[in-house]
Amino acid sequence: MSEIDALKAQLESLQSEALNSFSAAESVSDLQQLRVQYLGKKGALTEVLKGVGKLPPEERPVIGQHVNKTKSALAEALDSCEAELALNAKVARIEAERIDVTLPGCGSGRGALHPVQQGLDEMAEIFSQMGFQIAEGPEVEDEFHNFDALNIPPEHPARAMHDTFFLKDAGDQPLLLRTHTSPVQIRTMKRFVDEGGQPPLAVVAPGRVYRCDYDVTHSPMFHQVEVFMVDRDVSMGHLKGVLKHFLSTYFGKEVSIRLRPHYFPFTEPSAEVDIGCVFCSGKGCRICKNSGWIEVLGSGMIHPHVLKSVGINSDEYSGFAFGLGVERLVMLKKGIPDLRLFFENDVRFLRRMGAN
Ligand SMILES: [Zn+2]
Repeated sequence: MSEIDALKAQLESLQSEALNSFSAAESVSDLQQLRVQYLGKKGALTEVLKGVGKLPPEERPVIGQHVNKTKSALAEALDSCEAELALNAKVARIEAERIDVTLPGCGSGRGALHPVQQGLDEMAEIFSQMGFQIAEGPEVEDEFHNFDALNIPPEHPARAMHDTFFLKDAGDQPLLLRTHTSPVQIRTMKRFVDEGGQPPLAVVAPGRVYRCDYDVTHSPMFHQVEVFMVDRDVSMGHLKGVLKHFLSTYFGKEVSIRLRPHYFPFTEPSAEVDIGCVFCSGKGCRICKNSGWIEVLGSGMIHPHVLKSVGINSDEYSGFAFGLGVERLVMLKKGIPDLRLFFENDVRFLRRMGAN
């Protein structure tokens, strides 16, 4: 066999071997490797070209044409195999990503307001309907609004009972987390007077308060609703009437109340308020410790010193104020035995309470 025929045969077998391996390729990256293997600078076709130099000059163009034909045949085959593989891959991907839109969805659980928030809203709403305005105040307070203006001077023993969280000193006035919502009483009255207002003034202030305490009935953060009213001739009778209406509306039935003399620095006289046990209707049970009564809040007539601290003339005006623990009232209404349930975020508890 002449040299040129041998080269032609070599080209033919190279072409058929290449075409076979192209059609056997399983991926586009396999094809890229084959392209390098056959058509690359150091590829099989280049190897064949090295033999062309041994041919006589007149035969070289002939074999050159063969080489070019083989080269373009291989390139064309590679392109079409590549297009086919890419199409197959796309079809497979679409198939894999197919979504059956007729399947039912997973759905997400429906949320509800936290029972404490429900209680807060409910209580504020009752007072709102009686004509009380809703007010808010800062949770970071200074000693003046949290203590001094409420007739609790620096050496007063009542300060120790508040288990206060103090914050880092900021200048002359130490800051603290408010231990009750009563500072809102001070801020609201003071702002009202500063703006030239004159009583009557009736306000309800719901919010978070903080004390350094934690057990079955105490949490370091809890909620209070502060209620106060200032006008001419406001008496304990008004206080009792508002309390009875509020508590009966909140519990959804007529509740009996009693006021027991007590001491608070910011009210004079002061009274603790009990309601007739809502579980046994006063007959005596475990919850009321067989007394038939449950203590629910502290109240009284606003101390003249407090009115003076905000610039209200205590000879002309008087007022009542009370502060109630929101968690405690919600626990009584819904029969929740442990305060900590409110803060542990057990979804089963929240779901059950949220549905009510
Ligand atoms: Zn009872």
